[in-house]
This record gives sequence, C-alpha cells and structure tokens, in this order.
Amino acid sequence: MMKAIILNEPRNVTYSDIELPALKEDEVLLRVKASGICTNDVRDFNGDCNYSFPRIGGHEYCGVIEDMGAGVTDQYFKKGQRAVAYIIDDCKMCYYCKHGEENICEGLPRTKTFQNPDGLSGYGGFAEFVVVKANDVFAFPEEVSFEKISFTEPLACVLNSINRTAIEFGDDVVVIGGGAMGLLHVMALKMKGARVILSEPLARRREKGLELGCDDAIDPMNENVIEAVRKLTGGRGATAVFNTTASPKVAADTVEMTAPGGICVMFSSLHPNDPVPVNMGRIHSYQITITGAVSPTIKAYHQSVQLLSKGLLDPSPLIEAVYDYTEFDKAIECAAKTESYKVIIKFGEL
Ligand SMILES: [Zn+2]
Ligand SMILES: [Zn+2]
Repeated sequence: MMKAIILNEPRNVTYSDIELPALKEDEVLLRVKASGICTNDVRDFNGDCNYSFPRIGGHEYCGVIEDMGAGVTDQYFKKGQRAVAYIIDDCKMCYYCKHGEENICEGLPRTKTFQNPDGLSGYGGFAEFVVVKANDVFAFPEEVSFEKISFTEPLACVLNSINRTAIEFGDDVVVIGGGAMGLLHVMALKMKGARVILSEPLARRREKGLELGCDDAIDPMNENVIEAVRKLTGGRGATAVFNTTASPKVAADTVEMTAPGGICVMFSSLHPNDPVPVNMGRIHSYQITITGAVSPTIKAYHQSVQLLSKGLLDPSPLIEAVYDYTEFDKAIECAAKTESYKVIIKFGEL
C-alpha cells in the first residue's frame, strides 16, 4: 500500500492508502521524495481545469528508484539511484512525436494524465510511489538534493521556451513576471549571454531578479513597460520577450516591446483566455514572430537534467517552502499566494 493525496473533486483532498501501482516489464517504480506544486496544480485544486476526478496531481516529482520491471537492465540507472521521469505521456507514434515535438503529442489529451473514467487520472506525483516508463527515466548523482531535482520539469519548460528563440550573445531580452518560472528564465537567459530586463510589480521579486543576475528591473505599476524597454534598447525593443504571466493584456503588449525581427513567446497559459487585439501591422512591418511554449520536449528535459546534475544552475533561491505531504492544504495555500515562489511537498525526510 502507499499514501496518496487524492483530489476527489475541487478543493476536496483525502490522504488515502491505495494499492501500489503494478509494475510492468518495461517500467520503473519511483519512491517519490519531493514534488513541486505548479500553478497548474493550484488551478486543478480549485477546479479551474477540465480534468477528470478523482485524480492524483503533481508532475514536478522526483525520487529514488525503488524497483525495476523484469525487462529493465541496469545499464543506465539502478535501484537506489535518484531519478526523475519525462512526464509527457508521448505516444512516440504520431506526427509530432516523430517530429521531435513530444510536448504537443496528439494523443496527450486522451491519456491517463487527464482522463480516466475507470479510476484515477493525473500525473501521480502527489503520492508515495509512481510508476514510469523506463525509457522516460533520467538518473541524478547522489550529491544533488531532491529539492533541486524537483525543478527538472519546470526548468525544462523554461528551456523549451528559450529553445524556441535564437538568442545570440549580447541580445536584449525581456522577461515578464518574476515568479519562479520568470526567474528561471532570467537564470537560463543569463547563461545564454543575454542582457535580461525583468518586468515585475512586486519589489521583492524585482530584487530577487537582480540578485539572480538580471540586468534591469522595471516596475510595470509605476512605469510604462513598453517605453522603458524601448529606452533601454536604443528604441528598438527586445530581441526576445517571454511572457510568464496569465494576463491577455500583457500578452498583447509583448508585441509592442519586441524589436524588429524579434520574437515573443507566450510561455504562460492565459486566464481568462480572452482574445485581445494585437498589432498585426507591426508584426507585418517588422517581421515579428509570436509563438507559444508549452511543456518540455525530451531534449529540453535532458538539458534541464544536465544543468541541475552538473550544478550549472542552482534553483535553490526559488524555494519558497517545503511542506510534509500531510500538510498538503497548507502547502497549496502557500503556493496559491501571488508572492510565493516554488512550494515543494516532501514524502519523508529529504
Ligand atoms: Zn508545472
Ligand atoms: Zn505522439
């Protein structure tokens, strides 16, 4: 048996003992140690997603390899090792999977992640154990903490976002929103040699952004961000703009602060997803690209594992709090606060 945090319906959670998931030949059983709470988990908890219930949320999990299916060799990892798994249930068969875009796999909406009329839906990371496909596993060295490893998925989302652009040394970039995802953008973009400008209304977050290496921080409540960005960039605007906020109005503004030939990335989903007028004339005249970024590709996951396992990027400053899984209600309350960075739940001592 294992402990699981089951979301029976919106805002109704029980800590239940359920059967351990059965292990197939090509699968690995992970004992979950830490699981980050994503904004998506908060929306899921509040019933703002159309997933089926009951479910076990949590896709930012990591842990220790507890058991391996009969067909899994110990060539790449072994029992007792720290590990994460690629969380997209990619079919490996559809056009997009073959095209290297597993994150937009055609089969995804029909998977157990979102739908499961006969049992539990969800990624399963808010439970003591999770079963994953062996070929989705990435192992970590012993010295990397579970708190850090739990950033693999969010960082991979951010790397996928940056991989959508072709930033060159010295380019100007803007990150809108200084939450955990915005600040992961800041850290990764600094590694790419960019001049990073952060737009964030909370002073605490702007300061954190500056500590983490961003070059300029704008307060959008007291300054016109578009003008401020243009002023900092010789009137051109930024080569790349990443919107990590859910505001449709802010999303439309990104076009105005993007330089000719530049690109703006809709990293966050939009809530509410209201259509907004966009300056299409500017897009035409200045060859501006608008794109989205959703979930990580396998390659971005691999890159995230490299950055974290080699200590090239340390996400620790973005940990708001670590709660025991038995305090899930407190953890989700903390994660739901606008000013919070990443909240992590743990199973046992880390
Ligand atoms: Zn997430
Ligand atoms: Zn597919």
